[in-house]
Parts: sequence; C-alpha cells; structure tokens
Amino acid sequence: MAKQAQTPMMVQYQKIKDQYPDAFLFYRLGDFYEMFNDDAIKGSQLLELTLTNRSRNAKHPIPMCGVPHKAVKNYIDILVDQGYKVAICEQMEDPRLTKGMVKREVIQLVTPGTQVDVGSENAKTNNYLTAVVSNENGQEFAFAYVDLSTGELKVADLANQAELVNELVSLQTKETVVDSKLPTGIQETIKKLGILRSTQPELPVNASVSYLSQDVAQPLMRRVLKMLLDYIQTTQKRSLSHLKRAVVYEPSDFLEMDHNSQYNLELTRNIRTGKKSGTLLWLLDQTKTAMGGRKLKQWIERPLVNSNKINERHDAVGILLDHYYERNQLQDELIKVYDLERLAGRIAFGSVNGRDLIQLKTSLQQVPKIKYILEQIADKSFKDMLTKLVPLDDIVNKIETAIVAEPPISITDGGVIKDGFDDQLDKYRDATNNGQKWLAELEAKERKVTGINNLKVGFNHVFGYYIEVTKVNLSKVPVDRYQRKQTLANAERFSTPELKEKEALILEAQEQSKALEYKLFVKIREDIKKTIKRIQDLADAIASFDVLQSFAAVSEEYRFVRPTLTNQHEVAVKDGRHPVVEKVLGHQQYVPNNVEMGSDTSVLLITGPNMSGKSTYMRQMALAVIMNQMGCFVPAKKAKLPVFDKIFTRIGAADDLISGQSTFMVEMKEANDAIENATPNSLILFDEIGRGTATYDGMALAQAIIEYVHNNIGAKTLFSTHYHELTTLDESLNQLQNVHVGATESNGELVFLHKIQPGPADKSYGIHVAKLAGLPNNLLSRANDILTKLEKQAEDDQIDRNRHDNHQVQSVTPKAEEEEQISLFPLETVDDNQAEVVSDIKKLDLM
Ligand code: ADP
Repeated sequence: MAKQAQTPMMVQYQKIKDQYPDAFLFYRLGDFYEMFNDDAIKGSQLLELTLTNRSRNAKHPIPMCGVPHKAVKNYIDILVDQGYKVAICEQMEDPRLTKGMVKREVIQLVTPGTQVDVGSENAKTNNYLTAVVSNENGQEFAFAYVDLSTGELKVADLANQAELVNELVSLQTKETVVDSKLPTGIQETIKKLGILRSTQPELPVNASVSYLSQDVAQPLMRRVLKMLLDYIQTTQKRSLSHLKRAVVYEPSDFLEMDHNSQYNLELTRNIRTGKKSGTLLWLLDQTKTAMGGRKLKQWIERPLVNSNKINERHDAVGILLDHYYERNQLQDELIKVYDLERLAGRIAFGSVNGRDLIQLKTSLQQVPKIKYILEQIADKSFKDMLTKLVPLDDIVNKIETAIVAEPPISITDGGVIKDGFDDQLDKYRDATNNGQKWLAELEAKERKVTGINNLKVGFNHVFGYYIEVTKVNLSKVPVDRYQRKQTLANAERFSTPELKEKEALILEAQEQSKALEYKLFVKIREDIKKTIKRIQDLADAIASFDVLQSFAAVSEEYRFVRPTLTNQHEVAVKDGRHPVVEKVLGHQQYVPNNVEMGSDTSVLLITGPNMSGKSTYMRQMALAVIMNQMGCFVPAKKAKLPVFDKIFTRIGAADDLISGQSTFMVEMKEANDAIENATPNSLILFDEIGRGTATYDGMALAQAIIEYVHNNIGAKTLFSTHYHELTTLDESLNQLQNVHVGATESNGELVFLHKIQPGPADKSYGIHVAKLAGLPNNLLSRANDILTKLEKQAEDDQIDRNRHDNHQVQSVTPKAEEEEQISLFPLETVDDNQAEVVSDIKKLDLM
C-alpha cells in the first residue's frame, strides 16, 4: 500500500496492528468493530460483509468493513473456527469525555486453542491448547495441554515423534504453541495435521506460572509449561486463577493406542461423518451433565492399566446397576447440575452474571441429595469415592442471601441483589420507592388543582420526569408554575420546580443503587473465586459419578456383563458382541461369538470369505478390551480378560492422515510399529495384512509377520487373512489356532453365518461367489482354467527367479515346500511376458 499522510486514527490503528500481524484486528469504533486494509478484504469474504472504503475520495482509499459490537461474538467464532486469530481492540476511555484520540488497547487475542465461550453443541468436548518443546538433539519432547474453559492442565515427557503425533491427534488440538528450536520436520508434520502453530517469546518469570508448575521437576517439562502459560497470559490478559496445578502424566499410565487405532475403531469419531453418532462414545453416553460427557470421552481415549482402579470402577458400576431406583433418582438430580467446570472458568475470568450464580447455586444444591442417594447404596470402596463429593453450603448460602431468584442478564442495570442484603442499597431503594410514591401523589394532586383528569406524570430517558397534558386541556395549565419541556402531536409535556428537584433525587438514588449493586456483585464474585479449587474438585467427582451411572445404564440396556480380570494371560469371552454393530443391526440380527485364547494361544488366524464378519470380530475384541479397561462392563454373556498394556491395529481403510503414503506402506509401518513396541501383554489386531501388494509378496510378508509375532513377542494376536495357504501354519507354530467364519449355501445362495468356528475355512470362495451371482457357466469354467494356469505360471516364475537369486531365504510357505524359496523383493526384474502374468496375479482375489 502506497504511503500517504495518515489520519491520527489510522496511525494508532497501524501501530496496534503491527503487534498482531497474524491476527484479524477488530478495532472498536463506536458501536462497531472495524477491520482495515488486508484484514478488511479477507474478513469481508470470510464473514460475508460489505467491503467499503474509508476516505473514499482520497487517492488511496482504505478498504474497510465492520461488524456491530453487539454481534461480535458470532463473527469471532466464525473466524476462529476456521483457524484464524482475532485481536479484540477496545476503546479504553469514554469518547464523550475525551479530547483528541481515544486510547485503545487489545484486551484479548482469541485463538482456536483459547476459545472458551463454546456453544452448547460443544459442551461435551474439551478444547485443548497444546505446546511442544524438544531437547537439544530434537529427539525427545516435552508436551503440555490445557483446557482454558475447565482449567485442566497436564504435562508429559514424550520419547519420540510418534508419541507426540499421537497426543496431538487424540486430543484433537486445533492449536499448538511451538518454540523455534523444534526441528522443522516436526513443524511440518504439525502443519500437515492441520494444527495452527503459534509462537511465544519468553516472558519474565511470574508467580502464577511458578505456582502452576510447582509439582513439575523435570526441566524440559517446566520449559514447555512456562511457554504454554506465557502464551495464555499474552493472549488472554485476564485472570487465570481457575487453572489447576499442572499434573504430570505418562502415556504408559493408560492403555496405549495410536491415533490410527482410535480412529479406525471409531471410538469417538465416525469415520464417514466425523461426528459422534455411530461411535462407541455415542453408544455409551447416557451422561446427564456436560462435565460427565467430557469425562466419558476422556475415559474412552485413555483406558486404565491398573487392575485395582479398573476393579474399583467395576464395583461402582455393579452397585449402580443393582440399584435401579437410586440410579434413577441420581439421574434426576444430575440433570439439574450445570457445567460447574466451565462456570468456575467464567468466575475466574470475571465473566459471570447473576444468572450464572443462580446456576451455580442450583447445581451445588443438588450435591447433598446426590451424596445422600449414593450413601444409601455404597459399599466400602464406593464410600471412599464419595468422600470427594463435598457439598459447598457456604457458597450456596452466599448466593441465596445475596442474589434474587431470577436476575437479569446485565450486572450493571440493577435488580440483581436481594432486598435486605445491604443496608445502603436498601436505603437507595427506599428513596427510589418513596420517589415513585411521591410521583403518584403528585399526579393526584395536580389533577385536583388543575381540574385536568387525564393529566399524567411520566418518564423518558431524554427529558426525565414530566407532567403530560393533552392538547384539549392546555387552556387549564397553570402557566406560572408549569414549564414547557416537549411538544407532541396531541400533548404537551411540562415540568415544575418541585418535580425537577425530586427528579434529581430519584435519578441519583437509582444511579447509586445500580453502582452499588455492581460493586456488591463483584465482591461476591471475588469471594466465590477464592473457592474455585473446591468447585473444580467437586465438579470432577460429580463427573465421575455421572460416567459411572452412564455405564450402569448402558450395561442394563444392552446386557453388558462385568468382566473378570485375570493375570493368567488368557482371554475367554463367551457370546461377545460388537455393541455398535449390534445396536445398528438390532439385537436379534447380531450373531454373538466367543473369543477363546488360553495362556497357550497367542495367535488366532481367522479365515473366511469377504463380508463374513472377520473384521467385525476383531473390532469386537478390541472394544471389549477398551470397555473393560475404562471400567465399563462388556457386551458378552461372560468375559475373562487380562489387563492389556497396548493395542495395535491394522484395520480398516489405511488412510494415513499425515503423510499420504500408499496403503501398503501404511500397512507395513503399522506392522512395524506393533513389532517394535508390542509386549507379551499387548493386543495386536491385523486385518488382511499384505493384501496391498502382489499375492506372493503379501502372503510371504503375512506369514513372516505371524511367525515373528508368535516366536518373538507372544502378544495376543488376531490375524485375519484371505491367504488360505497360511492356515497350515498351525503345524509349525504351536501357539497358533485356526478359526474361520462360517458360510453355507442355501437355495443357491451363499449365506454368511457370521459365526466363528474352529479350524480353517473352505478353500477359495471367489469363483463360488461369482457362480452364485449368476455369471455364465462357461465364463466360470474359463476362470477356473485361468486360475490354475496363473498359479502354475507364478510358481514357475518363482522357482526361476529364486534360482538366479542369491539373496538369503526369508521364509517358506508350507504349501509350497518344494519351491524352497519365496522372494520378498519386488517383481520388477521380470521380463515382458512375465510382467503380464504378474499383473494378472495382482488383480486376482483368491477368495
Ligand atoms: P469381513 O471383514 O469378513 O469382510 P465384516 O466384518 O466387514 O466382514 O462384516 C461384514 C458385514 O457383516 C458387517 O457390516 C455386518 O453388517 C455383518 N456382520 C459382521 N459380523 C456380524 C455378526 N456377528 N452378526 C451379524 N452381522 C454381522
């Protein structure tokens, strides 16, 4: 933009804008927030506003657009939801009382990670702002996250980039604060995840930052916390007294699952819609409070690994399940509890009004009732949990004595504080009330004196109190006493010296009364602010009970059972179900299945045609494990489960959110992840590994992976495959068992039984299915011929190539004993004829 003489206002604007180059600057001008220059051009498009120009006739008019201050929140939300930042710049002085330029300051920088006034549709989700720093060599990370609306603050030391990506993705963070030393590769990854990267210059040490990080000793973690908290101070510029002291956590405190597993198992997000519907969270959520809803989501994403804690939750669910009547009573009380965590946040921010305090009171009033209900049914461990449910009667009383039952939204216009709470306020109110009485008397008196029966005493904001006389009666007005104030179409308005004097008194009393009410309100708010920690602890306890009652409710509705925990390394699930598929299909339609893996079985090799239910069976197993370790009951008739430390999955569409790698590459990476990190206590689910590459290639890899897991890891592994050849592995691998999903033919149709049965599946279904689909007989017999030929040719090729190949032998398929070798190397070295065959093989689905 060309230089030109700028008005003082634009000079001020530019000076402020320079401090917020990466944000939209909303510049307060009277009743509007204005944007200028590039902000205006982009903002007008994003917000669908009319773009105009300031100083239109100048040589270089300034693009400008604005939003009314009353509606500003909506506009900010739109921008922030799309990943932008908005700096709110206010007038710091009253323009009417100021000569020259009004002082302006940015009072808050709203960013995607610091947005707190979320709409009700987001009540059950957290909005996490995260931060990352790395050590000197960029290999190790400290990671912290905060939810500004609830005050939750956590910090962890992460061993590698994979763990970091996991945390970022599973917390669904929209913004992360990074320091400039973070390796560029990682910065790129964060960018690809669609996360906004913000930076923060270091601020001088301050007391509240030290307080919040006092339980954290490790230097790298202290650094990340400081950076995160500095960023919050820089952007929020307001009280953060509701932030909880930072809690150190380790990913291994919880059942470890990578974000792909969480995603593919559809724990909290539906793969197709990205929404909650159709997920485990959707099925399990019968929470009655927003806090409970958020806690349920956290429990799903972070199941436990400590069997005592799991049992404690199971106990509680059992008790609540057995006491239907009390559970209903509990639910009735919980419904009346508002979002205490976010109320606490708003109290800290100083943004509560009278209605919020009434919500706080109503919520706190439920606590003794909740406690009483639960005490009636509690056993020993449940009683321990109940000690955290501490009623806050002092706050209830304070609000009860001070705040009227139905306060207005505004806290500056009076009508918030109860009569009798404050002597001075009562006096002002008396004065105002007396004033009103006096006005009524004045009206009666003037009617009598003047003989004007419809004479009225009234009030408006511009002219104050007046005596109104209609035109027809004007002749009766005592002109010596009445002074004209205002002329209307049918009437004239007057004042008298007496009325003027009283008016001043009444208005002053009203003004002072409002000001005093505001002062009293702020005092109450500040008093309550001192108890934020107690409100938060209470909120946390209520949230937990809400989740537990939700577990009990769904366990009853969907017939879940309490699992037995075992340390014998065995899995015995009788009539297990996939709860979400079951709900969608209907209970009658769903075929339950057992999972039997004794301590001597580590691999279940699952065969069966496409669409028979292999993948559902594996997911069902994963969900049972997750539900168990969340403390919920599980969808089965009976279940015995060990406590797993990690879950690895290669299931479903192999979308790589980050790198856009090929399906096969992702498959191999996930396989590698499992092989590197699984322990004997882990659960591995591999769905049709190897199908992404040429048949023999894939089969060889599948077999090698199974052997490796079987011989070197011993994790409980469910492996589904359409390589029928692999089913003979049970001869060489004694901890491997074959199972298959049954299918039969009925009236010429293939019927899937969805029932897991012992042993391998029948051979090749592909051509069989094609036959049932009605393809012509001669075509089918031709397909058979081609199949035989291809198999034969492929075998010959293999033998040929292996003869010329000096590479080490990797593996042997049991079926092809006589071939000696299967190469793991790409089939690129083949000649043209072979290439054609190879490409045919690639297209072939042996099932
Ligand atoms: P595969 O992995 O063998 O291709 P899926 O597990 O994807 O098959 O299952 C295919 C479909 O079969 C599912 O969408 C579901 O509707 C149905 N199905 C799977 N398992 C069951 C079951 N146990 N009972 C009833 N229907 C099932």
